[in-house]
Formats: sequence, structure tokens, C-alpha cells
Amino acid sequence: MSIEIKTVGVVGAGQMGIGIAHVCAVSGFAVNMVDISDDALDKAKVQIEQNLTRLVNRGKLDDAEKASALGRVEFSSDNNVLSKCELVIEAATENEDVKKSIYDTICPILGPDTILTSNTSSISITRLAAQTDRPEKFMGLHFMNPAPLMELIELIRGIATAPEIFETVDKFVQKLGKTPVSAEDFPAFIVNRILLPMINEAVYTLYEGIGSVTAIDTAMRLGAHHPMGPLELADFIGLDTCLAVMQVLHEGLADTKYRPCPLLVKYVEAGWLGRKTNRGFYDYSTDTPTPTR
Ligand code: NAD
Repeated sequence: MSIEIKTVGVVGAGQMGIGIAHVCAVSGFAVNMVDISDDALDKAKVQIEQNLTRLVNRGKLDDAEKASALGRVEFSSDNNVLSKCELVIEAATENEDVKKSIYDTICPILGPDTILTSNTSSISITRLAAQTDRPEKFMGLHFMNPAPLMELIELIRGIATAPEIFETVDKFVQKLGKTPVSAEDFPAFIVNRILLPMINEAVYTLYEGIGSVTAIDTAMRLGAHHPMGPLELADFIGLDTCLAVMQVLHEGLADTKYRPCPLLVKYVEAGWLGRKTNRGFYDYSTDTPTPTR
């Protein structure tokens, strides 16, 4: 039995939640976005409005489409709104304890047939599923950043995920106009298994004094034709998220090649998390980002 998804719950109004809510609303789904932080919800509302305006300015959306997409998103700090959702996408902080406590709180609120998914970049889907009351209706639904622009979504099946749930989510992804790729449930799946060790290596390259921030990013942009340098990309992803993914790879695969660079650890300890805190490998307090090393 395949359920029809009409209303989507998004838990976590951070940079990913904002992009996910935007994509779902533009594709015609009603969206209920929740966060523990009222400030995050207020910022999310402003950000989604600005992002939709940008689409109007580029001629990709008209004013009426923008208004109806915006009208489909509701913001709330009350998890009870999730009771009306057929699909919930958890996009909260990349921390296993945070995610587990969210599932403890929301599972009793969700309808019995609601599909619960996580946007985690790296944490075991099977382990997260086991924390819920519905492992057969739980899977990984991993959007890329920025969600409105990136074409790919990784679908990750936990050991208990039911085939019809996977199919329903696969169809949902296609309705969003994205391309799904199926990844097995191993640490960091496909994209981040490859991407994050490269970013970590770029931080080692900086740490060992092989190049400056500018030299490393220029080298990879012009020498490997990457659209963004790896340190610029790390700031964009969030250094806390980068570190969390490296820790999951290091612990999950028990291989020293995934050891997080001590400089990355230090930046996170300092609260220099990249763009979201205005400082990471670059300082974003002025119009032109300036390297911090
Ligand atoms: P973020 O730090 O921008 O946002 C996280 C949000 O979660 C915050 O608004 C925070 O208030 C909220 N939150 C924390 N605890 C909560 C709770 N108990 N209930 C509700 N909300 C809560 O993080 P992000 O970059 O948006 O990442 C979110 C998830 O998406 C993570 O699992 C991350 O690994 C994944 N992801 C991130 C990227 C990326 O490039 N940043 C890409 C793909 C996937």
C-alpha cells in the first residue's frame, strides 16, 4: 500500500531545512517546519522569502507562484503540527543524541503511517531507525546543499526499511524534480564518503603549511576545475558538520586515514563554523570574504 504524500514536516530550520522546505513548497507540497529555536524559525521565514524572490527576479517563478509557495509553508515551535504530515524530514543538527531525542519527542505525535526520514550526512540510518517506533518506515533522504540548486538526492535504506516505503520516497524525490541515487547504509554514504576526506585533506594541507587558504582554494578551482575551493566549500557546509562527518567516518570505519585534522577541530572549538557564524577559513564580515590564514 502506497500512501499519498501531501504534507511534509521539516524538523530543523537551519540551512538545510530552509532549502528543503523551499523545494517542497515550490513543488506543491504543504510544509510544516518546526525548530526549537524561534529565532531560527524567524530567520528561515525571511530566508525562504528572499530565495523565492531571487527565483522571481531570474524569471524562474512568477509572483503568483511565489505567493502560493510561501503560503504553503507554516513555521512553528510546536511539534504537534507534525501530526498532519505523511512524510517528515528531520534536518536538525548533525548530532546523534540530538536526533535521537527528536525521534523520542515526535514519534508519539506522528500518525501510524507517517514516513520518517533523516537528512543526516553520515550517521547510520539503521541505528537511527532503531531509535524510533517505526524502523520499517524510516530511511535516509539526503539532500545536497544548497537543496534548491542541487539535482541529486541520496536515498539510504536502513536494514529494516520496507520496499514500499523506499518506492514512495523515491517517487516523492522525482516529484521534487530531483534525481535519486541509492546508497547503502555505510558511514557518510556516497557523496560525503568521497567529498569530506578531500576537504579534511585540504585542511591538513593548510595545517602543514603547504599552502595558504587562497593558494589551496585557487589550486583546486583552477587545477581540478572545482567550482569552489575545498576550504570555501567547508565554510559553506559548516565546519561543525564537516567535523561531525569526519568523526563518523573515523569511528565507523576505524581507519586512521579519516582522522579529523586538528586544525578543523580547533576552528570548531573556537566557534568558527564558517559562513553561518561569519568566520571560518574566511572572514565574511565584509562584502569580500578575506582568508583568515
Ligand atoms: P544547521 O546548524 O544550519 O541547522 C540545524 C537546525 O536544527 C538549527 O536551526 C537548530 O536550532 C535545529 N535543532 C537543533 N535541535 C533541534 C530540536 N531538538 N528540534 C528541532 N530543531 C532542532 O545545520 P544544517 O547544515 O542545516 O544541517 C542539518 C542536517 O542536514 C544535518 O544532519 C546535516 O548533516 C545535514 N546536511 C547538511 C549539509 C550541509 O552542507 N550543511 C548537507 C546535507 C545534509
